[in-house]
Amino acid sequence: MKKVIILLCVFFLFLGLAGCTVSKNSKDLLSKIKLKNKIVIGIKNDSKPFGYIENDELKGFDVDIAKSVSRRLLGDTTGELIEFIYVTPESRISDLNSGKVDMIIATMSINSTRSHIVDFTNPYFIAGQALMVPSGSKVNSIESLNTKKAGIILGTTCEKTIRHLAPNATIIGRKTYSEVFNLLKENKVDAILADDSILYGFVMDNRGYKILPARYTKEYYSIALRKGDESKELKEELNKLIDFMQQSGRLNRIKEKWIPNLHKS
Ligand code: GLU
Repeated sequence: MKKVIILLCVFFLFLGLAGCTVSKNSKDLLSKIKLKNKIVIGIKNDSKPFGYIENDELKGFDVDIAKSVSRRLLGDTTGELIEFIYVTPESRISDLNSGKVDMIIATMSINSTRSHIVDFTNPYFIAGQALMVPSGSKVNSIESLNTKKAGIILGTTCEKTIRHLAPNATIIGRKTYSEVFNLLKENKVDAILADDSILYGFVMDNRGYKILPARYTKEYYSIALRKGDESKELKEELNKLIDFMQQSGRLNRIKEKWIPNLHKS
C-alpha cells in the first residue's frame, strides 16, 4: 500500500511539473512552433541568389538558412515543415508583427531603427551597399549621382545612404528588385544602390551591367523575430544554430554554393 501511495505521489508530482512547464512556455514562440510542428517564414522571391524562384522552385542562400532552422527546431530534414510567405522590404516588418510569419529570413540587415520594433539574432552574413550601373556608364561613385537619378528598393537601408552621400540625387523607389532593374534597363535611372549580394544576382544573369568597387555600408543579415519575451528562447536557439553553422563551416559552404565570387573581385 505504501508503495502505491509513493507511486501516486510521484505520478502527481510529475503531472504538476509538466503542467508548470506548459503554462510557463505557453506564450513562448519556440514552444508554439514545436507544438504546431510548423514554421512560417517570411522570405524573398525576387532576390537571387538569396531567395528566388527557378523552375517553379524557391531556392537560395536564405532558403538554405531557413531549412537549417527547421531542421534544428523540428528535426525536419527536407524543409517540408516550413511554410514560406513572400515578403518585400516594405512589408516584412508588418508581416512579422501582425503574426503572419514567425520569423523573417530575407536579406534583412540589423539597424538601430529596426531594433526598436523587432528582435534580431546574431548575423549570418555580411553584405555591403554598392552601385550597379550599365558597363559604359560615367557614374563612378555615389557622389557622382548628385545631379542624377538613383533607383532604390523601398523599405531598404539604401535610401538613408543615398540621402546622406548624394543629397541632391533624385531618388526613384520601387517595391521589388525587378521593377528597379527595369528602370535601369530603360535608362530611367542612372544607377541602382542596393546590397552587393543581390546586385550580384543581376550581374550574373544580365550582360552589360557592373557593380562598382566601393562599398558604402556593412549590412549584417540576421533573422528577425517579434520583439519581446515571447522570442527569447527562440532567439537563443537560433543564435546557437548560427554559432554552430559558423564553427562547423556550414555557413561558408552555403556562401560558396550561392555567391562564390562576391568578395573576391
Ligand atoms: N539588406 C538591406 C535591408 O535590410 C536591403 C536588402 C533587402 O532586404 O532588400 O534593408
